[in-house]
Amino acid sequence: MSNEERRQDARVRALMGASHEGFVVIDSEDRIRLLNEAAETQLGVERIAVMYAHASALEAPELEAALVEARVNGPWDSSAATLDVKGRSLACTLIPFADVERGAGESVAIVLRDEARSMDDLERAEAILDATGDGMLVFSPDGALTYFNPAARDIIGPRIDDYVGTHVTLAEILDTEPLLPEGAEATGAAWEATLVEPEHRIVQVRTSPVLDSSGASIGTVSNIRDITTEREMAMMKNEFVSTVSHELRTPLTSIKGYVDLIVDGEAGEINEIQREFLEIVQENSDRLVSLINDMLDISRIESGRIHLKVEPIEITDLIVGAAGTFKTMADQSSVELVTSVTEDIPRAAGDRDRIGQVLMNLVSNAIKYSPGGGTATIAARRDGDDVIVEVSDTGIGIKPEDQAGLFSKFYRVDSSLTRDIGGTGLGLSICKSIVELLGGRIWAESEFGEGSTFGFSLPVAPPDLVRTPAVEGPDAAAGTVLVVDRDPDVASLIETYLAKRGYDVLTAHSAQAAAQLAAQHRPRAITLDVMLDDSDGFDLLQQLKGNPETADIPVLVLSVVCDEGKSMRLGAANYLEKPVNQKRLVDVIDGLVGSVASPLVLVVDDDRGIVDSISRVLKAKGFAVMPAYDGKEAMAAVRRKRPHLMLLDLKMPEMDGYQVIQEIKTDPEMSDIPIVVMTAHRIDHSRMGIIAMAAEQVPKPFSAEELVERVESLLTEEA
Ligand code: ADP
Repeated sequence: MSNEERRQDARVRALMGASHEGFVVIDSEDRIRLLNEAAETQLGVERIAVMYAHASALEAPELEAALVEARVNGPWDSSAATLDVKGRSLACTLIPFADVERGAGESVAIVLRDEARSMDDLERAEAILDATGDGMLVFSPDGALTYFNPAARDIIGPRIDDYVGTHVTLAEILDTEPLLPEGAEATGAAWEATLVEPEHRIVQVRTSPVLDSSGASIGTVSNIRDITTEREMAMMKNEFVSTVSHELRTPLTSIKGYVDLIVDGEAGEINEIQREFLEIVQENSDRLVSLINDMLDISRIESGRIHLKVEPIEITDLIVGAAGTFKTMADQSSVELVTSVTEDIPRAAGDRDRIGQVLMNLVSNAIKYSPGGGTATIAARRDGDDVIVEVSDTGIGIKPEDQAGLFSKFYRVDSSLTRDIGGTGLGLSICKSIVELLGGRIWAESEFGEGSTFGFSLPVAPPDLVRTPAVEGPDAAAGTVLVVDRDPDVASLIETYLAKRGYDVLTAHSAQAAAQLAAQHRPRAITLDVMLDDSDGFDLLQQLKGNPETADIPVLVLSVVCDEGKSMRLGAANYLEKPVNQKRLVDVIDGLVGSVASPLVLVVDDDRGIVDSISRVLKAKGFAVMPAYDGKEAMAAVRRKRPHLMLLDLKMPEMDGYQVIQEIKTDPEMSDIPIVVMTAHRIDHSRMGIIAMAAEQVPKPFSAEELVERVESLLTEEA
């Protein structure tokens, strides 16, 4: 044997020694050439006694018979039947192979597995499954229910007995909505469902594939956990926190109020020591107030009772506001507060007050955790479809190991640097919830000792987020709203609300019908409940936004679950939680349709890019817009629908701007339509008189603000 062979041999022996399976090799002359420890036990023999002896020394006649069979018929295994060897039942596999040493004939390798032992394993597994509190369901690869444990029966009820052996989906077994979200099986993601029967049980379901050793799927296993009690406890806790916090606020208000009065000298002179003590009371009651507010916020967020009002927000305004609010605090800490905002930041879709709160929290931290002074910068920029806001400081920074927990409740970095700085560890967790509910993300980057940057993103506000109608077109049915809800009763309720208000209502109960009606009738707005029978409402939303024919139609998502973030991300114009309040619904629809009071502006330019960009700005400001690309089209549009104002380019093919002005201003029917002339070229002096008839001129290039300002001021003059 070479050294390598010797090593190889030692490895094989070690492996065989450690195996639970028995290995025996019988050579072509029926002599026992190899027998490992497991085989000694299984066959009840001693290796020293049987090695090199005839196979009959094993005293296992059945095995000898199998040996003969394997030599004649090739590999043999007893997976169907087991061998009974000295009272043990053994599963055997026999594999013949050429006996190289002896030249002729075949050796046979025998693998022996203790069936009793694997039965033990199975029983043990079943005992474990029987004892677990979670329901377990096992499905075969073709989707038949093959096993469930007693806990599954407790949760689902005796009807589960009927499903064994049948092809049935989990949703059918649970008799619930929603159906398993797509891809949940592959990822093993958990989803929740409320059972119809037994009523009001809430379960959490996790389905994962069962793979064999080669990685092939041999079925799925679903774990079902009854989380009703957990939910009830969480609700009770939230209610408790909410009640206590409200109760605490009342006495605290008077404590704070009176201390403030005393400090301000309203109760007579106080001496320096009294002042010092009272200021400590003041400071601490302020801390208590902010702690209570944070607790209330957390309980609102966790119970889903937080109401977010999504509207287009001017991030720059919020930044300027926050910088103003924290100027004194920054000065006191010798922190220089800087703002850096790139131009043309679009408006973000968010809740103004709540985003203000997030921003203030980050700015206050930046100053608070910069005890040695330094610079705090609030910056904003656009990144694709997001508006990004970042607050950076040159403060104490955070070690990498402390960064993971930053956004968890009550998390505070514990170090000599932070111990003296007051705080509850709730702020960032509230910020995270708010930002994520609005469809954004939040993150932190930091270098210990150098400083930190906290950033968050919000989706850019879709152009129809404010009361804005779609571009006026001849096909747009006036005042039609499409109501999509799988429940006909709910749909007809919404229809009643809207019909009372004067809208024509179309209803659809399935995604397919909705998509068809939307493309066919191009309604002014769509209300969409995301729970539909034939498809996920979010898919429908995506489909509507992806189809150029329907992309412009504002969609109001109605849902019983808090889907605001997802809805806005997918392009919804607004979101309302069910049950909806009649007035709120009608208000939002009015706003979306914009038919009530939006002034109509006609934009005329042969450059489509210009018409587009002006339309977008105007729509974002709540105007209705009618486009025209030359003088003739402009005149046709004016005759079809009288605009409140007209933005007009001068140099155009066919009929130029001068002619348009002349025609409109000399027709008594139309002469009072204000016209704003957009001029890029030098004005033709010989036709100055005509220009003078127009209300105003704006020289190109102009800024969006400038234009909107002119339009707004002209229209208010009109009114
Ligand atoms: P609080 O400031 O009330 O403790 P937060 O949730 O706002 O609670 O912050 C959690 C923790 O994150 C803080 O306790 C602090 O340790 C760390 N942290 C937050 N902002 C900064 C920052 N700008 N620089 C350094 N550490 C910070």
